[in-house]
Amino acid sequence: MYKDFQSYLKTELGSIKKAGLYKEERVIVSPQRADIKVAGGKEVLNFCANNYLGLSDNPRLIKAAKKALDTRGYGMSSVRFICGTGDLQKELEKKISEFFGTEDTILYTSCFDANGGVFEPLFNEEDAIISDALNHASIIDGVRLCKAVRYRYANADMKELEDCLKKAQKQRYRIIVTDGVFSMDGNVAPVDKIYALAKKYNAMVMVDESHSAGVVGKTGRGTTELYKLRGKIEILTGTLGKSFGGAVGGFTTGKKEIIAMLRQRSRPYLFSNSIPPMVAAAGIEMFNMMSQTNKLQDKLHANTAYFVDKMKKAGFDIKPTQSAICAVMLYDAKLSQQMAAKLLDEGIYVVGFYYPVVPKDLARIRVQVSAGHSKKQLDKAVAAFTKIAKELKVLK
Ligand SMILES: *Cc1c(COP(=O)(O)O)cnc(C)c1O
Repeated sequence: MYKDFQSYLKTELGSIKKAGLYKEERVIVSPQRADIKVAGGKEVLNFCANNYLGLSDNPRLIKAAKKALDTRGYGMSSVRFICGTGDLQKELEKKISEFFGTEDTILYTSCFDANGGVFEPLFNEEDAIISDALNHASIIDGVRLCKAVRYRYANADMKELEDCLKKAQKQRYRIIVTDGVFSMDGNVAPVDKIYALAKKYNAMVMVDESHSAGVVGKTGRGTTELYKLRGKIEILTGTLGKSFGGAVGGFTTGKKEIIAMLRQRSRPYLFSNSIPPMVAAAGIEMFNMMSQTNKLQDKLHANTAYFVDKMKKAGFDIKPTQSAICAVMLYDAKLSQQMAAKLLDEGIYVVGFYYPVVPKDLARIRVQVSAGHSKKQLDKAVAAFTKIAKELKVLK
């Protein structure tokens, strides 16, 4: 059988390559940070990681992780309810609840799992899930695993959301689901308006804070800080793999009965291993740090404003952003790839996105700013962008 299957796979892989959609991976041989070394020895400035607060190589987190290795060992070797619950995991859940102003928190090994395991235990065919069209793949998959009736509205389109809510009055319970920050444009979901519509049409709200936690709001508490809705959203999900240190781990946080039900019935929690103690310990240290100082959040906000301003002054077409994601619009797919390749030669690592990742004719380079970037590094990026854009006649 494999011979047939093999030739089928080879043909499929060939057509992915022919369409120019084959994903190659660049190997990094240094810690993840603002300046990285890639295989072959080239040193580049990194503008394409989700390392928003620059914590991926933070000494305090590394020290906390090392200490936990010595005191709690390497792994838990069990799911939580059998014998995989450690004191550090419990403490981390408490820290996450404090950070977001929520009642309780449940940890997963990723936010993909958190989203994959949140809907099916809570809702059935009598209920409605109303989802933003640009929500993350893990939300889409999670919704697929649940029998609830599905509604979809165009990105951040409150008119379409309202239409969905009217239709969904037929169902028993309703929940509106949105990413906090949409990763291709960097726009923040209008959670204030979503919340108002939820009140008007008797619905609940879930926000995935993966790209907004640590970034959005003065102290990085996410969309509920920005819109003054702390404690009011029923479900928040998020990741420890972006702003919060960048290792692994995800969580669902919110109303305590919801979290209690997930502990009983959420399949990725019940049937998958605990996060390792060192990751929990580093997470605790990270939340301690963020409750002591706002330095990193302030630096990230200042860096983003500085970079966006300089790029606009240089003449670039930048999508309005309320996050650390800056979309440099080029519109043309080929140009976005050429420009990213040339920027890499200049020592600036960025990625060009084009259809089907973003809509046709809206190709762009996505720049992700970090608190780990120095002003000098930001200046270097702007200078390289300007030089290459002139070469490619994007700028005059
Ligand atoms: C990155 C991301 C996830 C997945 O997080 P992991 O912890 O890496 O699985 C889920 N949702 C959104 C919106 C994300 O951006």
